[in-house]
Amino acid sequence: MIYIKNEKEIKQMEEACHIVALCHIAIGENIKVGMSTMDLENIVMEVLKKNNAKPSFKGQLGFEGSMPYPYASCISINDEIIHGMPDKNRIIQDGDIVSVDIGAYKNGFHGDSAKTYMVGNISQEARRLVKVTRDSFYEGIKYAKVGNRISDISHAIQEYVEKNGFNVIKEFQGHGVGRQLHEDPGIPNYGHPGRGNRLEVGMTLAIEPMVNQGTDEIIIMDDGWKVVTKDGKLSSHYEHTILITNNEPKLLTNRI
Ligand code: MG
Ligand code: MG
Repeated sequence: MIYIKNEKEIKQMEEACHIVALCHIAIGENIKVGMSTMDLENIVMEVLKKNNAKPSFKGQLGFEGSMPYPYASCISINDEIIHGMPDKNRIIQDGDIVSVDIGAYKNGFHGDSAKTYMVGNISQEARRLVKVTRDSFYEGIKYAKVGNRISDISHAIQEYVEKNGFNVIKEFQGHGVGRQLHEDPGIPNYGHPGRGNRLEVGMTLAIEPMVNQGTDEIIIMDDGWKVVTKDGKLSSHYEHTILITNNEPKLLTNRI
């Protein structure tokens, strides 16, 4: 069931989303070669605490048998696609692309946003992957308008990514977001247009292309969380929580 948010709920949700944006600003200002991924987690926790927000991801359940997610951020480097756990022994190297996914919970609502940060000297091809991933999000949300269908967004993302010679992940997808971190509808990053629910004012959606440099095949690691590319090539992630309005979609997790 899709929850349409009223104006009051959107106001409440905007605060959680803004805090996610503040976390990304802090990551962007501080990330550098030699830091551990736990250092990034600590930055996220500091911003959440300062703003009286709770980490959305902590305690989320994964695949059966895996532990509840223990951290506020997911940090996935290079061939890691999503759900990398922060680790004090995992040091960021020159030329790494570092995907940081953050969720904040406040006023009973979640915000969710991910970005891939380029650290140090980045190869041209890695830079292009990160840019195409980001741009595919903006191609997708051109269709995030009242009356269009969910898969119009999905199709636009896939088409743009593949036109640029990369591949979208099929096993993981975007989602509705609100009182729950993951709500209906699911929003794949691929598919035929004209399918799925029609978009309505007050829908809040996390659109999140995950894009591989090589094959779309993935491996889920033994911890039940971390997902990596099967061929060891790079992967990039870009996500915002958006609001469907009568006009253009509003990016709730963008910096204000
Ligand atoms: Mg996310
Ligand atoms: Mg998400």
